[in-house]
This record gives sequence, structure tokens and C-alpha cells, in this order.
Amino acid sequence: MSLGDHDFSTVTYREQSAGVVRVAMNRPEARNAQNIQMTYDLNDAFDRANSDDEVKVIILSGEGPHFSSGHDMRSGPEQRDLLHGVGTYQNYTLPGAEGAMAVEEEIYLQMCRRWRNIPKPMIAEVQGACIAGGLMLAWVCDLIIASDDARFRDLVVGWGIPGVEYFAHPWELGHRKAREMLYTGDWVSAEEAHRVGMVNHVVPREELSTFTEEMANKIAEKPLFGLKMTKEAINQTLDAQGQWTAMQSVFTMHTLAHTHWRELTGAGLYTGEGAETRPGQK
Ligand code: ZN
Repeated sequence: MSLGDHDFSTVTYREQSAGVVRVAMNRPEARNAQNIQMTYDLNDAFDRANSDDEVKVIILSGEGPHFSSGHDMRSGPEQRDLLHGVGTYQNYTLPGAEGAMAVEEEIYLQMCRRWRNIPKPMIAEVQGACIAGGLMLAWVCDLIIASDDARFRDLVVGWGIPGVEYFAHPWELGHRKAREMLYTGDWVSAEEAHRVGMVNHVVPREELSTFTEEMANKIAEKPLFGLKMTKEAINQTLDAQGQWTAMQSVFTMHTLAHTHWRELTGAGLYTGEGAETRPGQK
């Protein structure tokens, strides 16, 4: 069975080669900022690839000069109307911390967990800026291939928040570099990210897609069940080390920090209110 190419509203889906699918974020005018529509489009595209018996490897990329500028904080009420429970949290409009926590559980923490556990290898192909929520998209993938102009940043500590919702920083960068990244909000270059093990390879920008596709093709030569079991073995190892337990724990601090910030500044989530109090999404 082969499901063929398909365009979602904010994401394209292409059969790249035998056993390899490319899912591309397609909001280059917004530097591929992830709004709620894109969250569900990515989920549908990944499900499509996962359900296709002939697909073994999924490439996740972004159209335009940048991989992703993170979550689209300009998303208004019309985006909230798109919310529906792929995860288990619901009741998104309840007041106080309750509704806001449910939204972030659904579209960030549980969705990222779901994507990280898709039992087929996923490769993030990253160029240009990869900021905050963009990190989560790269981190849920099995491999990260970066171009030499790629750079990574999480600046939400400036907003009183201990990192993005999917708190993989210490696992991805080691705790020293993770502290520096979070405390300073500075960029981490592709070269630095490679040095600490967050990125598998750094290649010239013009070779990025070719390099990624060649690696995907090499992986696709392996039997699917072997790939699934290997991925599961590594994920289970990380979970046995406490990765998922730690992430769930940190998410409660994340929610506390949002609530604290809202109490101090009036800035709500995904409502447009108080947007001027947020640090720039550069
Ligand atoms: Zn948040």
C-alpha cells in the first residue's frame, strides 16, 4: 500500500524515494511558526506515514530559510477552536490555570511524546533558525542533520519559564550546556550542537537535503521490524533513565511559571492579550 503525496493545510507530504517520506512544514512566510493547525497537520502527516506499510523513514523539514521559529504566539481564538483531544487532556476553555494547562498538555507535551514514540525512524533536517518550540520538533526525531547555518535557541527563561514544554534540554545537550543555553538565551551554533551530541551531522547548506535523503535511503534498506525494535530499545532505555518522568515533572513547573507570569503581567496564552510583554521570537 502506498498512500501517495498529499497536501495538508500547513504541511506537505511527499514520497521521497522507496520507503522514505518527507513531511515539510510549509509556512515559510511565518518562518514555519507552529500554530495549532500545523500541530494537527503534522500529527495527521505522521500518522499517514506511520500507517503506510511501505514507509520506513520519515524526514521532517521546513520550507524556506528557517526550520522553525517556534510556537506561533500570534495564534488567536480561531486557532483554539481547532483543539481536539489526540491526547487525553480536554476542557481547554476552563478558567485559571486549568484550561491553559490542558491546551499545552494536548498540543505540546502529549503530542511531542506521541511523535517521539512513532515506531519508525524520523530525521529532522534543520536549516537556519530553530527556536524554542522548533527545538521540540527536532528533538522528537531520531536523528538531526543540520546545515552549517543552523542555530538553536530557547529564550523562554526571559519570560519566567524554565524552558519549552518538552523539557529534553539536559538529555539533548548535557546538563552544563543546557544550563548555559537556558540561563543566557544565547544561540547554540550547529557546530556546538554537534560537539555536545545534539546533532548527528553538520553539512553545507546546499548539501543538506541530499545528505539527509542519502541517510534516509540507507536506513530504509533495513527491515522495518528491526528498525522499530531498535528505536523502541533506545526509547525504553531513555525512559528507564527517567527521561519521561522528568519531563512530566518539569511540565508542572512550566505551567506554574505561565500562571505566575499571567498573574504578574496579564499575558494569557493563545488569546493575543498581553503579547507585547513577551520576549521577541527572533
Ligand atoms: Zn508553555
